[in-house]
Amino acid sequence: MKLNFQQERILAVVAHPDDAELLCAGTLARAHHEGAAIGICVLCQGDKGQPEQPIENLAEVRRQEMQTAAKLIGADLFFGENPDGVLFDNLERRRHLTQIIRQFSPTLVLAHSQSDYHADHRAASVITEAATWFSASAGNQTQSPALNQPPVLWWMDTVNMTQFEPHFYIDVSEYVDTKLDMLNCHQSQLQRGKDASFSPLQDLMLQQCAVRGAQSGVASAEAFQSHTAWKRCAAW
Ligand SMILES: [Zn+2]
Repeated sequence: MKLNFQQERILAVVAHPDDAELLCAGTLARAHHEGAAIGICVLCQGDKGQPEQPIENLAEVRRQEMQTAAKLIGADLFFGENPDGVLFDNLERRRHLTQIIRQFSPTLVLAHSQSDYHADHRAASVITEAATWFSASAGNQTQSPALNQPPVLWWMDTVNMTQFEPHFYIDVSEYVDTKLDMLNCHQSQLQRGKDASFSPLQDLMLQQCAVRGAQSGVASAEAFQSHTAWKRCAAW
């Protein structure tokens, strides 16, 4: 059995520039290759992810890194413009993301797991879960009209795979090179690989793809869970 993403519109909603690369870029690259429309929404600016040699205007540097990465898979890019570390669920952020979701009109949204390690990831998860639902609620008005139905929602793997029991895997064996090329656009973060408080991101990413691949019988995979609540999952 093999899923085909040809007819889909996939929006990944992540907390920081480089999260999509770590957790779902193989799937996005494969879906793009199969003909899907791809969007990435980055809710935080990445302004506090400083390497030991601080970078001036880090938020702008990271925005440009993200734009370069998104171009590699032809992804539309959206920004939430929140500073790092202050992301939490509120009405304004729900409305902003609801509008982005209506504008892009995804059939499938990829969201952070509610068990991920970083508070911004968990906040992004909560906001995304709410906004995907309200995107189909005509009573919640934004600039764009409500969708006919909420998009299907998949939870992405957690960083380092802890507290995450996959429901299914996407074979990304042919797309690891693209995933790595995208990650390599984030030079400000790759510089932090030698910092005592950080991890070498390429190693982390390749290790995760290999482990999820080994679990599912392919060379490289990305793992997901389906949101299983009423109207949030689909048959395919
Ligand atoms: Zn992150």
